[in-house]
Amino acid sequence: MATIFVRHNIEIAHRLTQLPGKCEQIHGHSMWVELHLHGQINAQGILDGRDFGYIKKLFREYLDTHYDHHLLLNEADPFACTLYSPDLPSGQDMQLGTLPGLRCFPGDPTTENIAKWVATWAARTFAASVDVRVDETCTNGATYSARHVNGD
Ligand SMILES: [Zn+2]
Repeated sequence: MATIFVRHNIEIAHRLTQLPGKCEQIHGHSMWVELHLHGQINAQGILDGRDFGYIKKLFREYLDTHYDHHLLLNEADPFACTLYSPDLPSGQDMQLGTLPGLRCFPGDPTTENIAKWVATWAARTFAASVDVRVDETCTNGATYSARHVNGD
């Protein structure tokens, strides 16, 4: 068994609704996300014939699209909703849309859940067993392991 890894940074804003305290306030993190792919080294000396460039491209596109410079909220958060302006002279509310950059997730966007969601995506996308490490700060983070099952 061998492992290769790639890393990418994301700048996120989030708030946690299930954890009373300071994390209920919208705040930001500069996170490092590290993807470890496990497999076998082939005759070319490459892990399962996977090219680093291909892995990095998909990994970075996924993180940039879903996390980087976005506001991550639990889909059950009351602020994860469509906003309306009540100030129109007609008395009708005007739909403003959602908070800029909003991304909703099926649970609080904790560091642990982000590691889980990224690992689940990566195991499926690369058809491999993976570990994902997310550093929330320079002193703490989380890891999550996801195993690919053939035919999954
Ligand atoms: Zn936080």
